[in-house]
Amino acid sequence: MGLHDPDSAFTGQASASGIEPLFDRLEEAIRRFSETASRASDQTGACQQQFRNQIDVAEGLAPDPSTRQIVDLARAMLATLGQIERNMLRSQAETDQLRVDLEQARREANVDCLTGLPNRRAFEREYTQAIEKARSEGSALHVAICDIDRFKSVNDRFGHETGDGLLRAVAAMLGECAADGCFVARHGGEEFVLLLRGLARGDSFARLETVRRALAARRFISRQTKQSIGTISFSAGIADVLAEAGPRAALARADAALYRAKESGRNRVVCAWDNAGAS
Ligand code: GH3
Ligand code: MG
Ligand code: MG
Repeated sequence: MGLHDPDSAFTGQASASGIEPLFDRLEEAIRRFSETASRASDQTGACQQQFRNQIDVAEGLAPDPSTRQIVDLARAMLATLGQIERNMLRSQAETDQLRVDLEQARREANVDCLTGLPNRRAFEREYTQAIEKARSEGSALHVAICDIDRFKSVNDRFGHETGDGLLRAVAAMLGECAADGCFVARHGGEEFVLLLRGLARGDSFARLETVRRALAARRFISRQTKQSIGTISFSAGIADVLAEAGPRAALARADAALYRAKESGRNRVVCAWDNAGAS
C-alpha cells in the first residue's frame, strides 16, 4: 500500500537518528545548567555572610575617609552579590519548569494528535525493542498493517471532519486491542500498525479478526450532519516477524498481505504465512 518505499524513514533505529538524541542532549544541558546555578547560588550565599561580617567589623573600627570609601564599595558589591544570588535562584526555578516542559514535549513527540495513539516514530522504537525482546526470549512477535477501506470516498461523501471522526473511532477500537501486550500506532493517513507479542499465529490473527468484525458490524452516523454513514471496514495484512529476514522485510510481507486483502475484496485479514515464499 505504498507504505515501505526504500526512502522511508524507518531504519529500525529511530532513537539513534531522530529527535530522541536531541531531547537527551537538551535534558543533559538543562541538568548541567541547573547544577551550576545551584552551586553558584550556594557559594555566593556563603561568601556574602562572611563579607557582611567583615564589613561590619571594618565599620566598627571608625574608618578614615579612604577606608570609608572601601567599605562603601564593599557594601555595593555585597548588594550586587545578593542580586546575583536572587537571579540564580530565579534561573533555577525556570530550569525546573523547562525540565517539565521538555518531558511533556518528549511525550507529545510520540503521540498522533488526531487519534491520541502512538505515532509512527513511537512505533519504530517499539518495534526495534520488541524484536530484540522476542529474539532474546524466543517469544512470538507478529506485525500487522490495517488500512481503512475506500476511505477517500468517505471523505468525498461526508467531508474531512467526518472522516477525522471515523479515524478516531477506528483508532479507539484498535486501541482496545492494545491490552495484553499488543501495541497499536497510527502509521500515517488511514493506516494503523500493530505489534502482537507472545501470541501464537492463530491467536494474533483471531485478535485482529475480532476487531475487524466488530468494526464492520457498527453503523456510523455523522455527528455534524446526522447523516447515516453506514458501515466502514479495514483490510489488514499480518506477518510473523521472526520468520522474516528483519524488521523491514516483515513489514514488507505484512504490506504485501494487506495488498492481497484489498485485491481479494477488502474487509478481511490476510496472513503472510499463508503465502509463504511469496513476497
Ligand atoms: P483503499 O480501500 O484502496 O485503501 O482505498 P482508500 O480510499 O482508503 O485509499 P486511498 O489511498 O485512495 O485514500 C486514502 C484516503 O485517506 C485519502 C485521504 O484523504 C484520507 N486520509 C488520510 N489521512 C487522513 C486524515 O487524517 N483525515 C481524513 N479525514 N482523511 C485522511
Ligand atoms: Mg492507505
Ligand atoms: Mg485505505
